[in-house]
Amino acid sequence: MPNFDYAAPATLAEAAELMGSSGTVRALAGGTDLIDQLKSNRRNADLVVDLKRVPELQRLEVDAEGLHIGAARCCSDVHHDATVNALYQGLADSTGLIGSVQIQNRAAIGGNVCNAAPSADTTPNLLTHEAIAVIRGESGTRNVDLVDFFLGPGQTVLQQGEFLQELILPTPPENSASAYLRFIPRNEMDIAVAGVSSFIHVDPSSRKVLKARIALASVAPTPVRARQAETVLEGGVASEELFSNAGAAAVESATPITDVRGSAEYRKELVNVLTQRTLNICMERIGISV
Ligand SMILES: Cc1cc2nc3c(=O)[nH]c(=O)nc-3n(C[C@H](O)[C@H](O)[C@H](O)COP(=O)(O)OP(=O)(O)OC[C@H]3O[C@@H](n4cnc5c(N)ncnc54)[C@H](O)[C@@H]3O)c2cc1C
Repeated sequence: MPNFDYAAPATLAEAAELMGSSGTVRALAGGTDLIDQLKSNRRNADLVVDLKRVPELQRLEVDAEGLHIGAARCCSDVHHDATVNALYQGLADSTGLIGSVQIQNRAAIGGNVCNAAPSADTTPNLLTHEAIAVIRGESGTRNVDLVDFFLGPGQTVLQQGEFLQELILPTPPENSASAYLRFIPRNEMDIAVAGVSSFIHVDPSSRKVLKARIALASVAPTPVRARQAETVLEGGVASEELFSNAGAAAVESATPITDVRGSAEYRKELVNVLTQRTLNICMERIGISV
């Protein structure tokens, strides 16, 4: 591993100052991606700034804006949180399947997002909940819709000196739910061949879909919203046929590659199937049968 300086600030102001240092500065949350990248020389660093001790980056609380998740809060805490399990079920799904319990105890949601892997498991559900990324720099904060955060594999809108402070997820309405499923060839410890998160808000008396959000992992250079599928769903009456049409429409947003983990065609078929399954799980969670 290359030599680098290490700092563990205790305040947000100190973290912002350190992140603005000259040279190659890298944020560290759990280190489950970064340490491996440094060891294998896929990343370099003059300074690594450990963000875990900054209280604002450990937030996990609800206020009028919605749920605040500090960027360094570990996946285990999010997975077991009562609010997340009641209102953001797909996030409980995704944080509970990253790596192993040991990885979830270290890995932060912010690390998963900022690593910007197309296969990142927490991102699709964050997109379906329309998460806002609060980005901190030396001169203050700026907010970016998470859907606009990703530029390509490993690339984000973060500028030199900036880091992710927290994610804000608006409070979902009653009679809504979300779900995340991924396909991996093994039972665990694998990278998603494809992943789908769905969110729907349904009128309980008519079963009309009032709002739908679908997002995909591992089928494009960045996580993507499946907007055609959302259009198919919104205004329709929840049914097997509607969900089947949405699954087919979701495929339109997938531009996958063929690689060792699966062919492009296989990934598209997975998107179709996982979209329908996650929509059905959402309905079960709302408590309305299709
Ligand atoms: C055995 C194993 C299994 C895994 N399984 C999965 C899996 O199933 N699904 C999955 O999605 N991932 C998986 N991963 C990848 C990894 O665990 C996740 O991406 C994890 O969420 C990364 O979080 P972290 O806190 O460890 O990030 P770190 O390694 O600390 O950081 C990751 C990247 O983000 C940057 N960064 C971190 N925090 C910030 C911030 N606040 N602001 C700006 N930049 C920041 C770092 O500089 C680095 O470039 C696995 C990894 C291992 C080792």
